Amino acid sequence: MALARYAANEKHSVGRLYRELAPPFRGEYQRDRDRIIHSSAFRRLEYKTQVFVNHEGDMFRTRLTHSIEVAQIGRTIARALSLNEDLTEAICLAHDLGHTPFGHAGQDALNQCMREFGGFEHNLQSLRVVDQLEEKYAAFPGLNLMFETREGILKHCSRKNARKLGALGKRFFNASRPGLEAQAADMADEVAYNNHDVDDGLRSGLITVEQLNEFAVFREQYDFVARLWPELSGRRLIHELVRRMINSQVCDLIDNSKLKIREFKPQGIEDVRSAGENLIGMSAEMAKKHQQLKRFLRSDLYNHYQVNRMTHKAKKVICVLFDTFTGNQSLLPDEVRRKITSEAGIETAERVIADYIAGMTDRYAIAEYDRINNPHTNTFY
Ligand code: MG
Repeated sequence: MALARYAANEKHSVGRLYRELAPPFRGEYQRDRDRIIHSSAFRRLEYKTQVFVNHEGDMFRTRLTHSIEVAQIGRTIARALSLNEDLTEAICLAHDLGHTPFGHAGQDALNQCMREFGGFEHNLQSLRVVDQLEEKYAAFPGLNLMFETREGILKHCSRKNARKLGALGKRFFNASRPGLEAQAADMADEVAYNNHDVDDGLRSGLITVEQLNEFAVFREQYDFVARLWPELSGRRLIHELVRRMINSQVCDLIDNSKLKIREFKPQGIEDVRSAGENLIGMSAEMAKKHQQLKRFLRSDLYNHYQVNRMTHKAKKVICVLFDTFTGNQSLLPDEVRRKITSEAGIETAERVIADYIAGMTDRYAIAEYDRINNPHTNTFY
């Protein structure tokens, strides 16, 4: 499909950090997408928590299924707006590669542990994974992705860290925007998690349909479905409601973004970057409804006492691992320890340990915690 003028185009790309020959059959952003899928960090997303810990139930989203749902929504938006679909998909699939085990609880705990050593930001960590930590290619570290893919992965960044990133960090100082594919991926993330957390929340029984009916974005779909199928109940009712919510939000987002693009008339990606505001977004009315639901999920699902118990345990696991390894580096696996000695002066021991912990899956973190704390656990596996 023809790309719009304002879409990212590999012919005008800033390119890769290390020069490579163009792939014979694939586009450059398609190659990025493929590299992400083949990365170790991507496979580990399967065993990382989204909201519910991986072992709490096989039906809940993990970071992997979340990322795939984000990519599905992202591609729909990209195609409707004639943006670069391959690039959008690559950004969506990579956006959570830097996430710690145990979701946001893990990220907060690791950030707390690292506060004297430069902190821990999961967006920056995703970039670190694709730029440095993946060990895949003979010729360069990381995955050597295109500039626009890396720009999209770095959704947020503190000014302190952005300063170290050269051209990629610039937009956090001059208030410029990322390309429309990055904006589409960002919104796809919002829509995906708000909706699948409603689905998982209902499945877990921690929130109810009655509570959700207090919110327009849910109630509108509920009233419509109840009128059409008054007998519908259980899983089919919930799925029907959630898919209609996703659809209404995505349609609103596409319509509203079309209006914005028409208003700003960007002639290329540079016009998008200097537009002064994001051009991909929901209408004010839909954004408000979306925010109301988001606030409810924060107060009643993410802060439900049963979720808080998980958060409490997760923080403990992360902090004990960090304190133990920084206090006694001889407990680290040889491979990790070697990185501290060989990269002395480039990375601190704390950063190498944070990378090690951030890369763990939920179950690996729990097993590692057990191996160094539980005298009855065999430490040879
Ligand atoms: Mg996400």
